[in-house]
Amino acid sequence: MLRCARLPQPGETVHGEDFRTAPGGKGANQAVAAARLGGRVEFIGCVGDDAFGTEARTALEREGVGTTHLRTRADVPTGVAMILVEQSGQNSIALAAGANACLDLAQVDDAAAAIAGASLLVCQLESPLDAVRHAIGIARRHGVLVLLNPAPAQTLPPALLAEVDILVPNESEAALLVGADAPREPTALALALKAQGPDTVIVTLGEDGICLADPDGVRLRAAPAAKAVDTTGAGDTFIGAFAVALQEGQGTDSAAAFAQRAAALSVARHGAMASMPTRDECESAR
Ligand code: ADP
Repeated sequence: MLRCARLPQPGETVHGEDFRTAPGGKGANQAVAAARLGGRVEFIGCVGDDAFGTEARTALEREGVGTTHLRTRADVPTGVAMILVEQSGQNSIALAAGANACLDLAQVDDAAAAIAGASLLVCQLESPLDAVRHAIGIARRHGVLVLLNPAPAQTLPPALLAEVDILVPNESEAALLVGADAPREPTALALALKAQGPDTVIVTLGEDGICLADPDGVRLRAAPAAKAVDTTGAGDTFIGAFAVALQEGQGTDSAAAFAQRAAALSVARHGAMASMPTRDECESAR
C-alpha cells in the first residue's frame, strides 16, 4: 500500500509516502478472524517461495491457524494486491493471483480428511473455481456445511449456488450474481439468491447492516453503531465471526448478531487482520 496526494494518470509518476505491506487476501483474513475469536481453523491454499509467502505463513501461524495444507510453490510469486490510496480516500488496486492460481484438485484431495472432519467449509473466489468446487464436493459428500463468500465479484455457474448452504455476498457481489435485472432492494436481492439454492443468504450492506434470508423468512438487521475509520476487511471479519458462532451451535440470527459486533469493532480500527477483534472484545461489546 502506498499513499499519494492523487492517483497517477497513465504514463504519469507521482510521489507517494507511507509505504507498507501487510498480509491479507480474503481467505487468510477470514481464517484469522475466525481463529482470533476462538475457532479451530485449517487453511488450504498456496503461497510463493518468497518473503511475502513467509510473511503470510507466519501471520497465519501466529494466530493459531493450521497451515498443514498451505503449500509453498516454487517458481511463482505469492499473490499480491498493489493498492494506491489518494488523499480523497479513493483507491486504485491491481491484483496478481500468483501462487493462489496454483491451488489444484490434487492439493484439495490431500486436504480431504481435514475438510471431511470439519463442521464448516468456508470458501472464497481468490482460488481457482475448479479447486473451490472440488472442495465443496468433498464437504457435501461428508455432510459438512458449506459457506461461500462469492468474492471477488463474478458470475457463477447456477449449479454451484445449489451446492452452497450459506451464501454471504456484499451488495455488489449479490447484484452481479442475480444478473442484469437484479432488484435494488436488499430483501428482494437476498430472496432472488435464495431461490437459486442456498438455504441461507446473508447480503452484507456495509454500515446499513445485513439482509438475511433463510427458511424462517427474510429480515434486515441494522449494524451496531461504530466510529468507522477503515472498513477494509469488514466483510472478512463478519464471515470469520459468523462461521465461529455457527459451528458453536448458535442459530443464524444469533451468529449474525455476533458477526456484526465483530465487524463493527473491526471498522473502528485501521488495517484488515490488524483490526480484527478478540473474543473478549466481542463479548464485552454486547
Ligand atoms: P465488504 O467489506 O465485503 O464489502 P460490507 O461493507 O458489507 O462488506 O461490510 C460487512 C459488514 O461489516 C456489514 O454487514 C456490517 O455488519 C459491518 N460494517 C461495515 N461497515 C460498517 C460501519 N461503518 N459500521 C458498522 N458496521 C459496519
